[in-house]
Amino acid sequence: MGIAENYIKTYKNVMNECAHAERAADSVCLLAVSKTVGLDGVAEAIEGGARSFGENRPDQLMLKHDAYPDVDWHFIGNIQSRRIKDIVPRACLIHSLFEDRHARKIDEEAAKIGKMQKVLIEVNVSGEASKSGVAPGDAQELLDLCLKLPHVVPCGLMTMAPQGDLDAARKCFAGLRDLRSALQKQIAATDPEAANMFDQLSMGMTDDWLEAIQEGSTIVRIGRAIFA
Ligand SMILES: *Cc1c(COP(=O)(O)O)cnc(C)c1O
Repeated sequence: MGIAENYIKTYKNVMNECAHAERAADSVCLLAVSKTVGLDGVAEAIEGGARSFGENRPDQLMLKHDAYPDVDWHFIGNIQSRRIKDIVPRACLIHSLFEDRHARKIDEEAAKIGKMQKVLIEVNVSGEASKSGVAPGDAQELLDLCLKLPHVVPCGLMTMAPQGDLDAARKCFAGLRDLRSALQKQIAATDPEAANMFDQLSMGMTDDWLEAIQEGSTIVRIGRAIFA
């Protein structure tokens, strides 16, 4: 099967699972992670109906965004300070923020172009040494910083689940959801509007998106099922 067909099939599967989980069809965004393909692959996915794409490298984000500026581009990769100036003008959402200094730099670059930059805080729920993200107990501190930065809009949390163990993945997703709800409650006491904005859960990939949707994911980041 081609990429357009793969996208359509994946979209249908995601929507079916939404229905099973008694969730609204528009409560989950299917993010097509196009990091393994070139511009042709992106074009094929667009043909299949994809409108939201994820990239983990700034160079690829620049190339693909600039070729297809009318679809949404999300940055899901490792953030380097010197590349923030390339990411901010192109990413509608940055999923992978976990350092204070990057939050400040994102604010600085967004201010330069008069943008409100939406971000998610990446949390290392499983505690695996190989995973990036803040420890769950440190998420609030980074969130408080983001709330103070005038050009940064914290929109929720992101995580990567342990691989190869769906029970562990499900626990990780439930942990992220509970943390999001706890943080939302904290913010709501002083800033109900900001609490409403802080509702996204970016979790679930090709192998574990079903569990993620059942546990409340609002953005599934799917690569291989579409592009492999
Ligand atoms: C590559 C990647 C994905 C997609 O993974 P698949 O297993 O191919 O679906 C999702 N999230 C991040 C951060 C990635 O780097």
